[in-house]
Amino acid sequence: MIYDLAIIGGGPAGLMAASRASELGAKVIIIEKNRQPGIKLLLTGNGRCNITNRIEDHKILASQYGPNGKFLLSGFSKFDAENTIEYFENRGIKTKVENNNRVLPASDNARDVLTALLIDLKQHQVTIQTGVPVAKINTADQKISQLVLATGEEVVAKNYLIATGGKSYPLTGSTGDAYSWLQKMGHTINKPTAALTPIIIADKFVATLEGLSFKNVLLAVKQNTKVIAKEQGDIIFTSTGLSGPAIINLSRLIAAQPIHNTKLVLDLFPSQSEKELQTNLQTAWQEQPNKTIKNSLSILTSPKFIDLILSRVKIDPTKKVNSVTREERNSLVTALKFFMLNISRLEGFDKAVITKGGVKISEVNPKSMRSKLISNLYLAGEILDLDGPTGGFNLQICWTTGYVAGENAI
Ligand SMILES: Cc1cc2nc3c(=O)[nH]c(=O)nc-3n(C[C@H](O)[C@H](O)[C@H](O)COP(=O)(O)OP(=O)(O)OC[C@H]3O[C@@H](n4cnc5c(N)ncnc54)[C@H](O)[C@@H]3O)c2cc1C
Repeated sequence: MIYDLAIIGGGPAGLMAASRASELGAKVIIIEKNRQPGIKLLLTGNGRCNITNRIEDHKILASQYGPNGKFLLSGFSKFDAENTIEYFENRGIKTKVENNNRVLPASDNARDVLTALLIDLKQHQVTIQTGVPVAKINTADQKISQLVLATGEEVVAKNYLIATGGKSYPLTGSTGDAYSWLQKMGHTINKPTAALTPIIIADKFVATLEGLSFKNVLLAVKQNTKVIAKEQGDIIFTSTGLSGPAIINLSRLIAAQPIHNTKLVLDLFPSQSEKELQTNLQTAWQEQPNKTIKNSLSILTSPKFIDLILSRVKIDPTKKVNSVTREERNSLVTALKFFMLNISRLEGFDKAVITKGGVKISEVNPKSMRSKLISNLYLAGEILDLDGPTGGFNLQICWTTGYVAGENAI
């Protein structure tokens, strides 16, 4: 059997491509090495699947992806965030919009998103071959001639789509198999790096803060005196460092930088200036002059963090607030507004939500997702050097590039 389109990888990009190509009448096969497709999709959004981010303006949407985002503009004109919502609503998935335009299934269940895609593919008679990886791609005359599976079986098609994802969360099947195939075919692979990861902190005391969370913290990454990245949002201390939405997004901004003498500065009270925080503390202390400083701070944060801060600024926790000196108050405020940690490194691919880097986008036609080097090869999803922050942006890359590839690769 010669297929119109053979897709390697049954993740969101491959499934969307198969949906569009088969809707247009193409004979499609997906080869997925796991026993079932969409394993990573099931993990998205902590099992709730943040499907997309409802930004209607294409330029604003593209700008969320950094300089490479412009590549997506042409794709958005075919299939944008609104089309994604419509696609799933038309297949029975009611959606809801949460904070920062994040779109999720109303059921809060990623499995419903996967099921909708799989039902669609069944209706269009897409073959999904699971449990065996593609081991090799044969080429002749700048074209792919066939795929060879690990069993030795050969799959032949008119066109081929590589949608094998990146290297993060390798247990889900995304093990970066395609990078070497693509390099052999002449493609440039911009170095894949783990991104959207927790941050490991060198200061051992962070372990004592495990589980402690703060809302709306302003984070600045400093190298020597230069601020190289900023982010604001919620954070949580882990046994080795920090995680949470703001940290995960910050990690993407520093993923490509060498981490050396790099500090993370936390402003735990960004809505108050140093002066305002000092005045507010002074007023509170004047109202209850006999309280210990530790008790007086308990309205601000947890006891274990207060102990740490007070030991850092060398103030006795049992000291009465009416005897705290102006210098002590100033240094306390400085510690809360500029809480400094030493970054050791970012977590690796095991804990990275996405892979930054991948196939150089100037080697791919943004209107069709066709390789500019291999005439019957198309690319979609995380294999491309495209990445966005958390909030549904990364799945939107897959829906858009998958849809465009599916429409053209037939
Ligand atoms: C924990 C977690 C939570 C996330 N949450 C969100 C979220 O809420 N919103 C969001 O926008 N993004 C989220 N992401 C990112 C999103 O999941 C990815 O960007 C997306 O899955 C990439 O899709 P893909 O189809 O390109 O690749 P993948 O999803 O990685 O799929 C690739 C598939 O190819 C298969 N494959 C690989 N090699 C071979 C081979 N040799 N032969 C056959 N098959 C092969 C793999 O088994 C895999 O199934 C999350 C990621 C993680 C890890």
